[in-house]
Amino acid sequence: MRRRMTDLSDLAALPEADLLVLSADSTGITELVNAHCVTTETAWLNVCYVNDIAVWGPLIVPGKTGCWSCRPLTAQAPSGNAELDALISRINRRYQAPSHGPTNMLSSALASLDALKYLGDFGFVQSLGRRVGVWTHELRLDEQPSIPDPDCPTCGPLQP
Ligand SMILES: [Zn+2]
Repeated sequence: MRRRMTDLSDLAALPEADLLVLSADSTGITELVNAHCVTTETAWLNVCYVNDIAVWGPLIVPGKTGCWSCRPLTAQAPSGNAELDALISRINRRYQAPSHGPTNMLSSALASLDALKYLGDFGFVQSLGRRVGVWTHELRLDEQPSIPDPDCPTCGPLQP
């Protein structure tokens, strides 16, 4: 079944799971999935690419790691300027990011490996609490920690 997810009530239809994996590129979907997973205390993992960078993580475990809202890991749309926000929204609706098969394969393979390690409770989960990227044109690795924010409006109350 194909269904557009636009608010938290849409995500309530998702079955319970030990790990939710998100690979989607619509405005606001990561924040929506994060809010759902923090509320349901479901671990989740984001998988994507940014141009030629294979990206996976952070693997977020509510109550144990920071969440997507603790620290912005991606560019944020400007706020406070309704005209500019509307223009960006209109452009983004039509935007189709260039997709590169080998980069997508790399991010999905590394995310799958982390999912297996997390679910099987073995090895080192590279993306646990951090976003990892492999720059495919130079084979450089970068990471951005997802640092828990005790004042985070989404997960702050769950933090120890
Ligand atoms: Zn948070």
